Order: sequence, then structure tokens, then C-alpha cells
Amino acid sequence: MGERLGEGAWGCGCGPDCFTLDEDGFTCHKVLDEPEVWRVELLMHDTFLPSVNAFVVLDGGEALVVDAGTPDWFNDTRLARALVRLGVDPSATSLFCTHAHIDHTGLARELCEAGARVLVPEGVAGDMRRFAVRAWRDEMARRLAAEGTPAAEAVELADAIWDHTLNFEREGVSFETVPVGGHVGVGRWSFEVVSATGHTQGQCVLWEPAARVAFLGDAVLFLCSTCIGFWGEGEDPLGAQLETLSRLAAMGIEHAFMGHGLQQGDVAERCRANAAHHERRSARALAAISERPGRSGYELVPALGWRAPFEHWGETPALTRWFLVSESIAHLDHLVAIDAVLREKDADGVSRYRPA
Ligand SMILES: [Zn+2]
Ligand SMILES: [Zn+2]
Repeated sequence: MGERLGEGAWGCGCGPDCFTLDEDGFTCHKVLDEPEVWRVELLMHDTFLPSVNAFVVLDGGEALVVDAGTPDWFNDTRLARALVRLGVDPSATSLFCTHAHIDHTGLARELCEAGARVLVPEGVAGDMRRFAVRAWRDEMARRLAAEGTPAAEAVELADAIWDHTLNFEREGVSFETVPVGGHVGVGRWSFEVVSATGHTQGQCVLWEPAARVAFLGDAVLFLCSTCIGFWGEGEDPLGAQLETLSRLAAMGIEHAFMGHGLQQGDVAERCRANAAHHERRSARALAAISERPGRSGYELVPALGWRAPFEHWGETPALTRWFLVSESIAHLDHLVAIDAVLREKDADGVSRYRPA
């Protein structure tokens, strides 16, 4: 792991159980005593989210790192400094990745090369094979075009997002898979691997019922609603996410550690509020379809109540347009899955929506 930031600019106190990782205000601080959990804040790229978390659980000379940040030299150095300062022995360390997105898997190679054991849920390995390949980019562009996105923009949007999933097999990162219901241990603690499909198909969270601690990846955030993009036609990622939110709300989680930001209040309440937010948008989509049947997915995007600059659509960054179009399509997929609307192809092969 690298050492590329200025020397002497880190390791300073920033309060009890806190130390700086650089001169830019990135820190590592203890967020829980039992089990002992440290939050390593790393720089996030490309989105409005300010940072991404890697968590380090310490017990009995062992360490469990949950998620591995966005890959860049500075983040590599920050994470390395955190582990050195926490006295982590890489050969007694496991890395668990909640999902395959690059901001949660980016530094897996560095940890693996330092001697850590890399663990991913079976479904995450599946996502890596399915989504981190060129064929998925082409499939996305095809799907966007079939939803009425102009051909050039369909390719542009697919290009903006498709490689945000990392494939460890292609990258040569050796890893082991863990099944849903399996366990990941660190010292005295044993975390259950629980499916949290929705944000990605294979995402899993870690759950320790005695201390009521969960590592949630991007299953639910307090900073914003988790992005739900489409998968394939006929699939229902939003429905999956609603089920996940209801399952998480019922688990009795007391201490939640998310991929971005920190817990702000009750987890069950947040899950229910986020589910209600999605339900409202789906209801809006249904109302828009009923009001004027026959529109394509792309034509329906502005009717779904996004706070977005539709009047400056052309100047809106591709990634932002991708989030808006993709989550809108996920809502339409959900309405089709629950038999609330019908999807029919017109003569040009573009899907048109009308109430069932
Ligand atoms: Zn994610
Ligand atoms: Zn994330």
C-alpha cells in the first residue's frame, strides 16, 4: 500500500479516539466500543456524496475491514495509515465487500496484496460477472434505447455508468465467496451475511444480533435515498429494495454503519421513510401513465417528480441523467411487475406504457 501524501501531516489528534489521515480533514475515528469499530473516511468520486466509509472491526488481534473505498493513490494511503495506526496485521485481516460497486471494492487489490483475505457474498461475485463486463454496457444501451432514449444518449449514459462495478476475477484479486446465511468472524464476534438485494442484485449486509450491529453498505443511507437502477427487463429491483427495507426495519438494528455518512436516528424509521419515498414516486409514475397513456419511459422521466434540471437536460452531467433515467425505469419495471401497468412495444420497438 502506498505512502504518497505528505509525511508528518497525519496521525494528529482530532479528539478522543480520532486521528487524521491527511491534511484535508479525512479522519479515522472510533464509532463503537463493543465490538470495537473504527470508521475510515475516504474520498468519493463522481457523485455528490462527499465521502465513502471503510469500517475496521478489531478484536483479539484480528481485524475485519468492511468495504474498501474508491480506488486512488490518496485513498490507498489513507486506508494504509488507518490500518498501521490501529495496529492491524494484514495477515490477520479479512476484507468483506457488501457489494460490487467500485466505491466499496476499489482498494481490495491493495488489501489482498498486503496479505488480507478477501470475502464477497456469492451474489456479489455473480454481480461482478454479470455487470462488470462489456456485454452489460451494450445491454444497458439497448434497454435505454428501448425505453425511448435517443440512440446517442443511450450509449452515452451506458458509458457513464457501466464500469462502476469491479470484477475481481478480471482484476486478478483472489477472493473467497460466502453464502447468504454464512458467517464472517473477527475475534469473538461472528457476523451473519444477510441478503440486501435492491441497490445491487447481490448486495449483502453483515449482522451481529447480540450487539445489534449491522454493516449496511448502500442498502439504506441517511444522507439520501439509495440509487435503484434497472437490471434486465422482467426484473424488479425496486420491489427487491422495498422487501429489503422492510426486512431491515424488522431486524432490530441498533448500531448501523453505512457506506456513506453516519447513522442519524432510528434505522427502522429510516427504512420505512425510504420505502414510503419510493412508493410515492411509483404512485406518481402510475398517475402520469394514467393521465397520458402511451408515453415511453424516457418521456415519463420528468413526470416522476425528481428535483432535477429538466430545462437544462443537455447540460446535465451524464451520470446525473443516468441516475434519473435508470431509477425511473426501475419504477416502471416495478409497476409492470405488480401488474399495475402494461408495457407494449410500438412499431419502432420502443416500450410504451398504459394502465393495466
Ligand atoms: Zn453502491
Ligand atoms: Zn456506495
